Amino acid sequence: MQKKIYFDHAATTPVDRRVLEKMLPYFTENFGNPNSQHAFGRETVAAVDAARDEIASLIGAKPSEIYFTSGGTEADNWALRGAAQALAHKGKHLIVSAVEHPAMIATAKDLAKKGFEVTFAEVDEYGKADLAKLERAIRPDTTFIGVMTANNEVGTIQPVAEISAMARARGIVFFTDAVQAVGALKTDVKLPAVDMLSFSGHKFYGPKGIGVLYVRAGLRIDRLVTGGHQERGMRGGTTNVPAVVGIAEALRIATEELDRNAAYVASLRDRFISRVLREIPYVKLNGHPKDRLPANANFSFRYIEGESLLYSLDLAGVAVSSGSACSSGSLEPSHVLLAMGVPEGLAHGSIRFSFGKDNTPEEVDYAVDRLKEIVVKLRALSPLFPKELKNEVYPKED
Ligand code: PLP
Repeated sequence: MQKKIYFDHAATTPVDRRVLEKMLPYFTENFGNPNSQHAFGRETVAAVDAARDEIASLIGAKPSEIYFTSGGTEADNWALRGAAQALAHKGKHLIVSAVEHPAMIATAKDLAKKGFEVTFAEVDEYGKADLAKLERAIRPDTTFIGVMTANNEVGTIQPVAEISAMARARGIVFFTDAVQAVGALKTDVKLPAVDMLSFSGHKFYGPKGIGVLYVRAGLRIDRLVTGGHQERGMRGGTTNVPAVVGIAEALRIATEELDRNAAYVASLRDRFISRVLREIPYVKLNGHPKDRLPANANFSFRYIEGESLLYSLDLAGVAVSSGSACSSGSLEPSHVLLAMGVPEGLAHGSIRFSFGKDNTPEEVDYAVDRLKEIVVKLRALSPLFPKELKNEVYPKED
């Protein structure tokens, strides 16, 4: 039987069975619209309220600070557009890190066409925001700083506490996209204090198409989705009750099991990273060596196209990603790697491996063994591979 190994948990995760069980009644028996004035509606209002309370208590927020959205993309769009527009009378300069997810980068570029000025804040070679440069980018008319908690491609964890303090000392709104961090790192909107924070259910074994935007009490941002009175008039649209119930349960489980799962997944990542670096030559680990998400390993394989590697691994039954899942399919090199100063050739040869709680050390070993064979094969075919180099890999040591 063909192996099917999933090492793409940063793209999405399967729904945890316990989460699914909790969601199921809300597709059938408890299908009421929470806006309805009858018993069916009241039942689902109670479920949505309970989910909101649960999420708030898990991240140190108040229920009134939690807004449900259609996912991370909408939450990011809303945070940036909503704050930029609401604060436009104060200033029109926005700062967004250069390694944000396209949900932020594309939104910032869009705003730049509509009269705002955007600075894409530089990062260092590991993808970390450069605090001195960030501080220099701040202007009297800066109203918003957005820096993600952890990067989706290379896994680098940002100095969010320092950036938040820098922004707040100057009365600038600080937003962090925690889509990759929630479920992997402890999340508390008070530690460090942030003004807004986003996350998405499908990254931590919850359903797709549901996200949360936390907005600190007292901060007014403009609405993005106009319509009915849902979400206290701030986001129209009939509430996706099963998904709301699901994201709350997924967050409860992820928080409860965080220490154990993060340690386990990090052990798989470390086994993978150390074998690849020892056994395959001409490989670069992208991202921070220590301050990285427990599940993330990102490598550039010199003299190889990432896409060819991805397809060969797929044929061997190993699912990985080249660059970000959202921009794969395009042959543009990753904007994250380019911002980190990785040369274009190397950026093209990059692959992200992201591990999950159901992966095993045997799967890691199988993947490394296949990877070694594939790398040798692709380098043998590559016109870029220098003739004077030996096309070889090294045996496993243990
Ligand atoms: N932000 C980050 C850092 C992500 O990794 C993703 C998804 O890959 C998103 C935002 C978008 O989230 P969603 O898929 O829920 O729209």
